[in-house]
This record gives sequence, C-alpha cells and structure tokens, in this order.
Amino acid sequence: MHQITVNGLVVDVVRKKIKNLHLAVYPPNGRVRVAAPLHIDDEAVRLAVISRLAWIKRQQARFESQDRQSEREYISGESHYYQGNRYLLNVIYHEASPKVILRSNTHLDLFVRTGSDTYQRERMMLTWYRQQLKEAIPALIAKWEANIGVEILEWRIKQMKTKWGTCNIEQRRIWLNLELAKKSERCLEYIIVHELMHLLERRHNDRFIGFMDQYLPQWRILRAELNQAPLAHEDWGY
Ligand SMILES: [Zn+2]
Repeated sequence: MHQITVNGLVVDVVRKKIKNLHLAVYPPNGRVRVAAPLHIDDEAVRLAVISRLAWIKRQQARFESQDRQSEREYISGESHYYQGNRYLLNVIYHEASPKVILRSNTHLDLFVRTGSDTYQRERMMLTWYRQQLKEAIPALIAKWEANIGVEILEWRIKQMKTKWGTCNIEQRRIWLNLELAKKSERCLEYIIVHELMHLLERRHNDRFIGFMDQYLPQWRILRAELNQAPLAHEDWGY
C-alpha cells in the first residue's frame, strides 16, 4: 500500500489483481482507500479520485454526522457489540448490584439500580467489557509469548481513540484498547500478536511484516475484519 495526495486529500492506494477500481471511505475518520487493478497507474487513480471528489466529501460529511448521532444512550433496543456480534440491549432497573448478562445470542441484559442515568449505565457496560477482556487476554498473551519467544512485564486495558494497541518496548508493556471487547476474539488475538511482535522489531517494516506472515499468516484478513464496515464504497470499470 502507498499513499497519494489528491487536492489535499490523502488516499491509500492498494494494487490488486482485480478488474475494477474500487473506492471506499472508512470510519472512523473518513479514510479514503482505492484498490486499483495492477495495470492502472497513480495518475489514472488520481484522475478517478478527482472525478469522485464531491462524492467522497459527501460520504465523509455523512459519516461525521453519523458519528455524532451514534453516541450511545444505553437504553433498551439499542445495538451493542460484543465479541464481533451485535446484541440488542435490554435495560432492567432493579434494587441490587448492577450486572450484565448475555441472555441469548441476540440479547444483552443490563441490570442497573433504579434511577441510574446514562453515565452509570455506560459505566456498567464498560466495566463488563473490561472484565470480559481481562478474562480473555492472559491465555492469549501466554500462548503468544511462548510461540514468539518473548515476554512482557505488564499489560493494561485502555480506552484509546485512535489505536487498537500499543507496545512500550523499553518497559515491555502492552496496552490494549477496551473497544476490542466488541470485536471477535481472533481480532483481539491479532492485536496481541502484533504488539508482542514489536519486541522483535520496533518498526512496521518488511522484517516486522515477515514475522507476522510467519506467525499469523492470516493477519491481513484479521486486520481487514477489524477495520471493516466501510461507510460507503463504489466500483467503476476501467
Ligand atoms: Zn504496531
């Protein structure tokens, strides 16, 4: 993948064995990605992007407003994700400790004290997400420390805006994004492998990619799954 800039817009360009040029705008920031057939050069990609500029701006604007609307209220009927699946939230007010129960493969019950506000409901959900990750992470870290032959001193779950994970090589510490609780466990595993791999190679260079290919050959599919759900996309022939 490489990047070109078109009228101030940064565009990720990937060449693939495909017939048509494929343009997509992705959340969360309206990233623009073009998948181009092998024989299409950057100049042709540039022209194609220019011809779709108005459309791209519209998608980005739409996403920005969607993002604002998608502020969660933690009320019954709202969709929430856990381990890659969508659940309908069912809020139950009671006079006992708050808890979350995965009632079925479609419904999530959130029990909170009567009178709980949005912030309290959210806090309970985030506590539950954190507990789920805390249970899942140690076995995955142990498995991959052994596989790769590295050892970390500490891991933490953090709320992060722009990254799925980070690795502090000197401290041998990894941070994992709380949002990963909403993604499938194989995505969580991919991020853990990626961060542990930084203990072998600091940068995202060919050597790093070589290690990823060696230890987790399907990592590109998992990365795509993590960053999936493009806001909008369009194909056109060439
Ligand atoms: Zn990295």
